[in-house]
Amino acid sequence: MDIYLSPQQLDLRAEVRAFLDEQYPPERILQMEQDEEYPDDFYRECAKRGWTGIPVPKEYGGSDGSVLDLCVFVEEVGKTSISLSTLYITGTIFGSHALHICGSKEQANRYLPGVVNGEKRFALAMSEPGAGSDFAGMETRAERVDGGWRIDGLKGPISGAERADVIITAARTSTSPSGPRQKGISLFLVENGPSGPGFERTRYAAMQALMVNKVHYDGVVVPESAVLGEIDEGWMNLARLMDPERLANAAQTVGVAQAAIDDGVAYATTRQQYGQPISRFQAVSHPLAEAQAEVTAARLLVYAAAAKRDQEGPCPKEASMAKMLANNVAARATSAALQCAGARGWEHDSHFLRRVLEVRGCELGGGTSQIQRNIIARQMGM
Ligand SMILES: Cc1cc2nc3c(=O)[nH]c(=O)nc-3n(C[C@H](O)[C@H](O)[C@H](O)COP(=O)(O)OP(=O)(O)OC[C@H]3O[C@@H](n4cnc5c(N)ncnc54)[C@H](O)[C@@H]3O)c2cc1C
Repeated sequence: MDIYLSPQQLDLRAEVRAFLDEQYPPERILQMEQDEEYPDDFYRECAKRGWTGIPVPKEYGGSDGSVLDLCVFVEEVGKTSISLSTLYITGTIFGSHALHICGSKEQANRYLPGVVNGEKRFALAMSEPGAGSDFAGMETRAERVDGGWRIDGLKGPISGAERADVIITAARTSTSPSGPRQKGISLFLVENGPSGPGFERTRYAAMQALMVNKVHYDGVVVPESAVLGEIDEGWMNLARLMDPERLANAAQTVGVAQAAIDDGVAYATTRQQYGQPISRFQAVSHPLAEAQAEVTAARLLVYAAAAKRDQEGPCPKEASMAKMLANNVAARATSAALQCAGARGWEHDSHFLRRVLEVRGCELGGGTSQIQRNIIARQMGM
């Protein structure tokens, strides 16, 4: 089932697996979530192995990897922990791709070498409490002031914002009464200072190692050099960023779904009831068998969509199909795995329960499944 992957991609997958098995065993992941530990060492180790450089062009020290390379990487990391894979996606992929899509040479020089050595991490702040799916309805505003822009508003939920060095922040810079609402949104590279007046981050209470935040901008002033892309054209640039984001999101849920199935099978073949392993009951084995077929299909769709993106450029329909299918399949797989673990699956230190929550977060982030269906339908001409 690896017909899409090159020998190098298979090697990458094997190296990532060996690293995670050694340094992030299941008990470490639970501890990390319970202690709300931000995995600094994960970035350091990824940098040492060249993995933070995958989405970065060679001229800035990266390896200029493909979207398919990134999917292989985050799928494997997602198998171990969605907190780790999401931090990699937001911290490394978003920033690198955004700078590639619409950054200036000076901005790329300023940030990309730091991404490669694991020291610069990004977050992407589009959503607001009042503007999620319909994020063109955002109320965060940026106004021109002497020497730069002043930003006011509330963003959230934003993955990894608390520890990001740079928050790519979408803000409204103009409103045209007759034009589309998508026009007039701009992007800013907001460097993260310590919390304090003007710039405050608070945490949502779920997936604690990931640190999903609200970010409050109260008169935050950024210089002109912080403008990313053209003023008022942020929507177009974000749209270009969405394919790799959605594909990476899809790939990580394929990973977590596979891990749930593997653990479900291990549990079902050892847990005894009525004098035999519960895997002998078709009511237990069939949901896992069905989940395996669905996850395999979702993986192939993710790889095919990523390969299309690499070879042909933007592919919003395929990226949305991959995200919707992978997220939905993963929700069924993690739920089937939890069910087969019975009450053990429901305990607070259970990996089965953690994975159900992780997949729900992925399904909401990057646009919900309903929004993906809207995009697919639109792309189909409806
Ligand atoms: C774990 C997590 C991490 C996140 N990380 C980030 C991040 O890093 N950066 C960022 O900017 N955002 C992030 N988000 C926010 C995420 O993108 C939004 O939650 C998502 O877009 C949905 O917005 P909402 O929660 O406001 O729901 P709403 O938009 O209020 O939607 C509520 C429900 O209505 C449905 N709905 C709304 N409009 C339509 C429609 N037109 N057609 C059909 N159904 C519709 C939705 O699908 C959903 O089921 C994150 C969210 C989560 C949960």
